Amino acid sequence: MKITIGIPKALLYYRQFPFWKTFFETLGAQVVVSPRTNSTILNRGLEAASSEICLPVKVFYGHALHLSSRCDYVFIPRIVSIEKDAFTCPKMLGLPDMIRALPKPPKVLTADFNAKKKRKYIRRALLSLAAPINNNPVVVYRAYRAALAEAKSFKKAQLNGHLTSDILASKAKKPVNNKEEIKIGVVGHHYNIYDSYISLNFLERLRRQKIKIETVENIGHEKIVDNLKSLPKEIFWTYEKEVVGGVMHWLNTKSVDGIIYLLSFACGPDSLIQVLLENEARKHEDTPLMSMVMDEHSGEAGFLTRLEAFTDMLRYKKTKSVAS
Ligand code: SF4
Repeated sequence: MKITIGIPKALLYYRQFPFWKTFFETLGAQVVVSPRTNSTILNRGLEAASSEICLPVKVFYGHALHLSSRCDYVFIPRIVSIEKDAFTCPKMLGLPDMIRALPKPPKVLTADFNAKKKRKYIRRALLSLAAPINNNPVVVYRAYRAALAEAKSFKKAQLNGHLTSDILASKAKKPVNNKEEIKIGVVGHHYNIYDSYISLNFLERLRRQKIKIETVENIGHEKIVDNLKSLPKEIFWTYEKEVVGGVMHWLNTKSVDGIIYLLSFACGPDSLIQVLLENEARKHEDTPLMSMVMDEHSGEAGFLTRLEAFTDMLRYKKTKSVAS
């Protein structure tokens, strides 16, 4: 019987799933993914996690616990950094230990990944992850190469304008619709934007209004890095760098009609860069930016009213500029 590896549909799932799924399947394991976030998963996370933890980590707890009785191992890598000059959030670094510290923890499969370390450390980490499934280094190397190829085609689809959630749901084959009236840049942590439950189906609501959506994954790394060069100080968190670089790209190129920044409740990095983004947006008054905080669905009506008011305002502004 195949070893089953559970992958929680939360946090880095929205960036790394194609890579890890291919890696484990090429090794010979069966990959089990938790379902989309729902009220049962969220409530399990809320009960298990400390109240000070940010919403996305609470959601992650719920997914990990959902998988605990449905697979041999729950895969929770410790991603320290994915580029040499920045880190991921400290809460992500602590995930494997936080889950193992629960009263009835799942069996966690983990390894450390740190882009600052030499390649041999990555090799060792991959070998240790593969050990319960297949410890032949040739097979592990083959699985790694196959995973890299899959990650590359995922990236290519994102750069072709498809939304990450569509690619992951295998819906990205439809041509990208370019006939929408207004275009909005949607920015924030990927695990918030693409989790339809915690974002109150945000992307789909925009689509139903025939709004064209662009996210930072559609922009491309070089443009993001270029736009960060004008900042007086470097940002040391990878995903926040993307958010700021993406917003600055849209502000500088005026390539979207408006920007919506989705923040997590109780997220330290988000609250810091919110100030930075709002300052930058004030210098570019022709591209409005709206920040929206996502919490445990306590203010659903207010959230949706603000969204509707913002899109109405963008439409009105566009109609006025076309008429004048
Ligand atoms: S960046 Fe914010 S939302 Fe993401 S894990 Fe860290 S604290 Fe939570």
